[in-house]
Amino acid sequence: MRIAIIGMGTAGVSLLKELVKYDEFDQMKVDVYDNPKNMGQGIPFQNDSDQLLINLPAKQMSLNLKNEREFYEWYQQQSIFKFSNPEYLPRFIFGHYMKDYLETYHKQYKNIQMIKKEVLEVFIDADIGETNIKYVVCTSEKPDCQQQYDIVFLTVGTLSYHDPYQLKGTPGYIQTPYPTYDTLNEVDSTDRIAIIGTGLASLDVIRFVTAHHPNLPISVTSRKGHLPSVRGNMPEIQFKYVTPENFNKIKKENLGNVPLEDALTLFRKDCTYYDIPVEKLVHRRKGDPIADLTYDLEHKEILGKFQSILELAKENLNWIWNSFSRDDQKTFLRNYQSILKENSNPMPPRTARLIINHIQNGQIEIKKGLEDVKHDGQHFWFKYEDDFKAIDKFDVVINATGSKSHLSELDNDDQLILNLENRQVVQAHPLGGIQIIPETNQIISPRYGTLKNMFALGQLTNGINQSRNGVTMIVKQAVSVVENLLNRDQNKC
Ligand SMILES: Cc1cc2nc3c(=O)[nH]c(=O)nc-3n(C[C@H](O)[C@H](O)[C@H](O)COP(=O)(O)OP(=O)(O)OC[C@H]3O[C@@H](n4cnc5c(N)ncnc54)[C@H](O)[C@@H]3O)c2cc1C
Repeated sequence: MRIAIIGMGTAGVSLLKELVKYDEFDQMKVDVYDNPKNMGQGIPFQNDSDQLLINLPAKQMSLNLKNEREFYEWYQQQSIFKFSNPEYLPRFIFGHYMKDYLETYHKQYKNIQMIKKEVLEVFIDADIGETNIKYVVCTSEKPDCQQQYDIVFLTVGTLSYHDPYQLKGTPGYIQTPYPTYDTLNEVDSTDRIAIIGTGLASLDVIRFVTAHHPNLPISVTSRKGHLPSVRGNMPEIQFKYVTPENFNKIKKENLGNVPLEDALTLFRKDCTYYDIPVEKLVHRRKGDPIADLTYDLEHKEILGKFQSILELAKENLNWIWNSFSRDDQKTFLRNYQSILKENSNPMPPRTARLIINHIQNGQIEIKKGLEDVKHDGQHFWFKYEDDFKAIDKFDVVINATGSKSHLSELDNDDQLILNLENRQVVQAHPLGGIQIIPETNQIISPRYGTLKNMFALGQLTNGINQSRNGVTMIVKQAVSVVENLLNRDQNKC
């Protein structure tokens, strides 16, 4: 059985880690594809500044669902990287932990081949009138680069970055902030620098700039100017009301869907059960970054409970999300998605303290109401809504607006996905990413229907796996995809 894994970040490494556990692995020949830089590490955990931290305590992030301390234990056992405050470790350390898995397997098993090239095309080889299909993977347009497989896993991670003001290619415009240690190579000490976006990627840039260029002031700006929340003390929580049993009952009475309002009623009951003042916390922000960060730092217990229940909702979002009608999914994205986004994936408290210090000492300014950015051939001009006189001028702009979610937004930075869509292997999901079966991660092709042996995991499936892109959720999907695949084949024999 020939298997291709395309993309060797968290999802790719996790799939391989699952495959090797089964007796059937002996009969497999697995080719893993990625570029030499990201092979085994992926994009978020690539080699970069040690200022970029994983967003949860190291003891809680692991590729092993049975041992959430495994990464931390790995860190303690090795002697190459040592940090004085290892509670939140740099992200690239997690990358080395993942890569260690890949390299160990590669040494141990002869049937794993690392192909350090990016994949350009995957097409389906089937004779006219035949339903028996093979998958062909190509790293270039040359026919001798084509490899045929029985099973393909598409695990290419995040799509390329948005370019909201069409500035890509403009001198001084940095289209993606990673790796951060390359972003400011060309910057002069007199340059004025702006970051567009106030989410997690902009925190990375702030941490990097303030550590390595302490005399460079930066403006951080976005439409809302909201920073992510600060991590509180997050307890273990289980839903009492938002349960598959309650959803199944409601579905029977509502033509197969759970109305969003009914789901929210159950969620509010869970919040009441855990004494979480949900309305108050949703509306706690005043629009003043120092006051907002300080509030979060001072309300660790209550905010931690709120973050735990939102994290739990995200973990279960596969069946919650896919129980809604399309109209309710759109309503959710319009009215509730931003609450989920701002309050989950919180920043470590020490990042919050660092931002407060740098706002107070004038190195960072956070501005909201960004409406437009133009380049006049020399400078970038920022215009803010409701204040037509407030126009700022910058020399360097770092884009931290996050990655695209819809296939309709892609350009040749995502050539593989465009090719897959063009060859009718994948099709767009109306709410983002590609169509897959939620229960199995099998891709639904517009030409061949459900592809029995082609699977997608990660952000490319965001229309179905709404907000489920953290390490643990990816690992859970990898476990269940391999379990379903190999049990299905066993049952057939
Ligand atoms: C900046 C950032 C920070 C994050 N921090 C955290 C965190 O601290 N904790 C957490 O739980 N989650 C975090 N996440 C969420 C993160 O996306 C997931 O946890 C996880 O890394 C995603 O895994 P993945 O395998 O889908 O993507 P990746 O790990 O990025 O792997 C995708 C791989 O596919 C490769 N690839 C792409 N195109 C091709 C091609 N054509 N051919 C071959 N290979 C290809 C890429 O080079 C890459 O190595 C973060 C995300 C981002 C963007």
